[in-house]
Amino acid sequence: MAERILIVEDEEKIARFVELELKHEGYDVNKVTNGREGLSAAQTGTYDLMLLDIMLPELSGFEVLRRLRRSSGLPVILLTARDAVMDKVAGLDGGADDYITKPFAIEELLARIRLVLKKSAGQQAFRNEAGLDADAEEKKLTFGKLTLDERRYEVLCGEEPVSLTNREFELLKILLENKNIVMTRDTLLDRVCGYEYAGETNVIDVYIRYLRSKIDERFGMKMIQTVRGVGYVIREDKQG
Ligand code: CA
Repeated sequence: MAERILIVEDEEKIARFVELELKHEGYDVNKVTNGREGLSAAQTGTYDLMLLDIMLPELSGFEVLRRLRRSSGLPVILLTARDAVMDKVAGLDGGADDYITKPFAIEELLARIRLVLKKSAGQQAFRNEAGLDADAEEKKLTFGKLTLDERRYEVLCGEEPVSLTNREFELLKILLENKNIVMTRDTLLDRVCGYEYAGETNVIDVYIRYLRSKIDERFGMKMIQTVRGVGYVIREDKQG
């Protein structure tokens, strides 16, 4: 079955162009032109991915993303008009899976769509396998009262669930798998975001800040340590 993509973009020329290209690639495409309609469409749960413009009438792309993330992990690629760090940071903070700056080459957009869909399908398969394979040895990573369950794709602090985006989960997993080893920001960036983000290590700082606010600050832990000028580490001896 063709993957379904929702385009939320008020610039008719861009929306139409992207729609045609995606249909040509075999995707099932629907487009809407304002934030409110975009949010309702995304919430139907019938899409595999959303392309979301930021500057939209009625509800901004950021607001759509914020509201969507309360209940949905639908993969989202932001279309940003400005190549501003602010937009990227705000978008990633808001739980976007990726972003692309307009004007973009259609090949680049297609490549990003394929990557995000592949990642999302992989996680889904992993979850399904986990469900069918309940007797298999559980793969859990822990730190103090925190548990990351790779098979269930879930993080708990004591009994409290911690809701993380895909990339936050990935980042936390890598740090927990490499306890006591300082991970450089470049290594983390490469493993969490992929090569196309090379050099943009401030993206990792954004995710770390987000993990800290969702875990360290919320639960009064001192889990993720900064190694100035190098990267980050979770040390075994500093239990939260
Ligand atoms: Ca716009």
